[in-house]
Amino acid sequence: MGRFDGTVALISGGARGMGAEHVRGLVGEGAKVVFGDILDDEGASVAKELGDSARYVHLDVTSDGDWKQAIAAAETAYGPINLLVNNAGIVAYGPVDEMEPDEFRRVIDINLTGTYLGMHYTVPSMRKAGGGAIINISSTAGLMGYATIAAYGASKWGVRGMTKAVAMELGNDNIRVMSIHPGPIRTPMTDGMGDELTMTQPIKRLGEPEEVTKLLMFMAADATYSTGSEWVIDGGAVLGPVIDIPQE
Ligand code: NAP
Repeated sequence: MGRFDGTVALISGGARGMGAEHVRGLVGEGAKVVFGDILDDEGASVAKELGDSARYVHLDVTSDGDWKQAIAAAETAYGPINLLVNNAGIVAYGPVDEMEPDEFRRVIDINLTGTYLGMHYTVPSMRKAGGGAIINISSTAGLMGYATIAAYGASKWGVRGMTKAVAMELGNDNIRVMSIHPGPIRTPMTDGMGDELTMTQPIKRLGEPEEVTKLLMFMAADATYSTGSEWVIDGGAVLGPVIDIPQE
């Protein structure tokens, strides 16, 4: 028996990075997973690796039509959805007076509105399933400030706030809603970055995607009394920089 036997999951941004690891982890423990992305070649190759328990669909999280098709595909293949992971996201860098307004809007559209659309269209399926869990991927940037990523920070604080509002709405539907707040994790998003991201943390290394997957699976399967809560996995980044205080 797998821990996720009977789970039908829908995951956005699942073609690579953390999303792909979540797909692999859940399938490995018995779930049926439909996952989407805009990187169709990468998505198809992850699906091929996993066989009948995973299906890839093209899912641009800003598209209402793509969400409807992804949910229909999941229901047809495996039944109503009882786990949604809103993982797709992008980052854009630039000081507030230099980032173009269209770039700001694009980040909000994908990271924040995309997460809203995922919940908006999936909740009816989850009600049919009798309940489930929604896990929204925020960031430490949804808990503290970082220079040059105002749009990303706004989107991730928004995801955190929206998670709490929706958790209040869906308790009676037996649907738990939580957010994950990763610090720097080794994925294509942090490619080429390393020490400079983690040198002030208590745990001075990048996190691995599978460490986030283990947390996500605990939240989905075992954290049955948690909703609206934020789960930090960041090597201690939100504690602030480790400073050597002179002893004399
Ligand atoms: P990633 O490897 O870039 O994966 C994100 C995936 O989402 C990519 O395949 C990306 O495709 C896709 N995507 C972009 N726009 C999309 C859209 N409109 N519709 C559907 N998919 C889209 O990044 P990751 O590091 O695994 O990030 C996963 C999540 O964790 C994101 O929400 C990110 O903000 C969050 N996070 C990451 C870190 C970190 O250190 N890595 C830390 C905190 C939070 P493209 O490559 O074409 O954009």
